[in-house]
Amino acid sequence: MNHITTARKGQTNLIKENYDGLDYFRMIAAFLIVAIHTSPLTSINTTADFVFTRIIARVAVPFFFMVTGFFIISGFLKDNSFRNPDKYSVKPDTAPLTKFLKKTADLYGIAMLIYIPVNLYSGYFKQNNMFLKLLKDILFNGTMYHLWYLPAVITGVLFVYLLLKINKGTVFLLISIILYLAGLLGDSYYGLTESIPILKNCYDFLFQLFDYTRNGIFYAPVFLVMGAFIARSVKPLSLRKCIAGFIASSVLLFIEGLLLHAHNMQRHDSMYLFLIPSMYFLFQLLLHFKGNYYRSFRTFSMIIYIIHPFAIILVRGLAKVLGLEDFLIYNSLIHYLAVCLLSLVFGYFYVYAIRHIKQGKPDIKGRAWIEINLNHLRHNVKEFQSILPKNCTLMAVVKANAYGHGDIRISKELNKIGVTSFAVATLSEGVQLRKNGVKGEILIFGYTHPQDFKLLVKYRLIQTVVDLEYAQILNRYGSKIKVHIKIDTGMHRLGENYNNISNLEAIFNLKNLVILGAYTHLSVSDSLTKENTAFTKAQIEHFYKTIQNLNDFGYNPGRLHIQSSYGVLNYPELSCDYARIGIALYGVLSSAYDKTRVSIDLKPVLSVKARIVMTKTIEKGDAVSYGRTFTASEERKIATVTIGYADGIPRNLEDGYILVNGYPAPIIGRICMDQLMIDITDIPGVEPDEIVTVIGINETNQIKAEEIAMNSGTITNELLTRLGNRLKRIYIN
Ligand SMILES: *Cc1c(COP(=O)(O)O)cnc(C)c1O
Repeated sequence: MNHITTARKGQTNLIKENYDGLDYFRMIAAFLIVAIHTSPLTSINTTADFVFTRIIARVAVPFFFMVTGFFIISGFLKDNSFRNPDKYSVKPDTAPLTKFLKKTADLYGIAMLIYIPVNLYSGYFKQNNMFLKLLKDILFNGTMYHLWYLPAVITGVLFVYLLLKINKGTVFLLISIILYLAGLLGDSYYGLTESIPILKNCYDFLFQLFDYTRNGIFYAPVFLVMGAFIARSVKPLSLRKCIAGFIASSVLLFIEGLLLHAHNMQRHDSMYLFLIPSMYFLFQLLLHFKGNYYRSFRTFSMIIYIIHPFAIILVRGLAKVLGLEDFLIYNSLIHYLAVCLLSLVFGYFYVYAIRHIKQGKPDIKGRAWIEINLNHLRHNVKEFQSILPKNCTLMAVVKANAYGHGDIRISKELNKIGVTSFAVATLSEGVQLRKNGVKGEILIFGYTHPQDFKLLVKYRLIQTVVDLEYAQILNRYGSKIKVHIKIDTGMHRLGENYNNISNLEAIFNLKNLVILGAYTHLSVSDSLTKENTAFTKAQIEHFYKTIQNLNDFGYNPGRLHIQSSYGVLNYPELSCDYARIGIALYGVLSSAYDKTRVSIDLKPVLSVKARIVMTKTIEKGDAVSYGRTFTASEERKIATVTIGYADGIPRNLEDGYILVNGYPAPIIGRICMDQLMIDITDIPGVEPDEIVTVIGINETNQIKAEEIAMNSGTITNELLTRLGNRLKRIYIN
């Protein structure tokens, strides 16, 4: 437990760091894009405008590509970065990529919708070959002149991701450079292409597919790749090199741009040779910049980009209405500033509106919360499926809010990976799953009140028959009700006695019961002592004998099941139709030291996190918390943590500890309702607001639910199902 020395906070995840330079430049880049579409300097000097909008402003889009590469693509490169010294061979996580793609696609969809009125007004939908044109525009060109960027970044990211699957090193870089060079020939260097007939034919063919080569295949990859390589570079580039490199390459960029312009070489002017080194040095330079953290810039710049064509229309319209055309339109600089201002206002309202909506909704991670790792859930399901006999279906037990994991979300995730059998304890749990769209069969283990029988039918739930008397009440309801028959073989909780064949027969003779299955529950399947094994075997035998008898009488008891988690792990040879898996599905066993006959690789799904409120130093003799049960024997540094027994941390937990920065910090004094105190004397650099781990893994250390359960005299089942309502759940894919 003491071997953690390198773990330092903030270094494990690239995304968590602040990159102020990048955030500030997002705003500049957004205004440069507005400039490209408004040509602010035309009324002053057209060459100046060319330099500003067709050369300088051309850094904007590559910058955004590089940001994407930096944060999203970098995750797929081998990590030997100075930014991330601890993690060099982690398996790449595709979650940020999918999240990014989904977010961008959503944004693109919304942006297209917003501009439909403009499209309608401009007669866009009346063009010839509309369907083909629309398809090409959605895939490459954008349905509005500025929207091409969104499909370009989506195709670019997908394309680079595929390239990366082939090669992670130089080939990968080389291909994206070659594509960029090919793109140049269709863009700024088209003059060259035109002079070579075969080449011209090739490009003319390409231009039937898309209007420009500045797209996700020719333009985006090199910048995405560059951003990713910078994120993973071994050392930062020194400030002097950044500045020198940037100045030198941008001078060359100016010369290149002006020459191409003067010789009329450009079909379009997005791509230049010297844009690549200029961007490289600019981006490195921005990484040096540290300012005030201002995250709204991300939203602001996005809104400015999406909305500025709308602002252009509005400014023009307004100018006409007010008769201010000379001022607001023909003075290009004023026009530009007006469009910028209006876009900013839109951005401001959006950010303000979002804040307003979010107000009153406290941050889930503000105090203490539960993290649910859905990857681990899927992993555990696969592990179980690998040991269950072929014809045995995994019935996921999601009672008690899926053992504290959130029953709706857990069941829906299980649905996604093909699990369609569920069990709950109560009617309302079943109804809740159905109302939220959980598919498959849902068995209720417990008692349902006759008043609620109609809901059994309405929500297609399967009721457990607990004995003959209850079966008769169910039958009296009048409509067909689906049931499983519970047979008591020794647990003596629910079920008709196994040896009361006449009662069982009577149940089978009830007309309104649709009997789909029969089951029993083992009471000591977790124990491998001789005595308990014998008892379990007897239970199993009783069950099968009863089933045999029923069969002999001509009754069909349907699908059979006996095992819960321990039943499967200790009696895997049983071949049932279902296995009712609860606790182990969530990656934990009931008790820390349970040995099972088969062991599978289970991964805990749930963790609990909280925060440090404050730290303080106490003197020798000072006591901590109610009852003054802890007294410091010397000067100690302590911290107060935002979680207590009302959140489900057992008050009687003994020898408890919390993970702070990866180090175990003992809980001292009594656990309070909403807080607890820990000793952090030996842990360096603990600060208020820091996130600590109450259950789960933190850097290299782990606090298992089993440990906490054991040290508070209970089992994980109780610990997890009693986690408090105040803890909200965050799901991690
Ligand atoms: C809760 C329950 C289960 C699941 O038990 P685990 O030990 O959590 O796997 C199975 N069957 C019945 C009848 C139950 O009540």
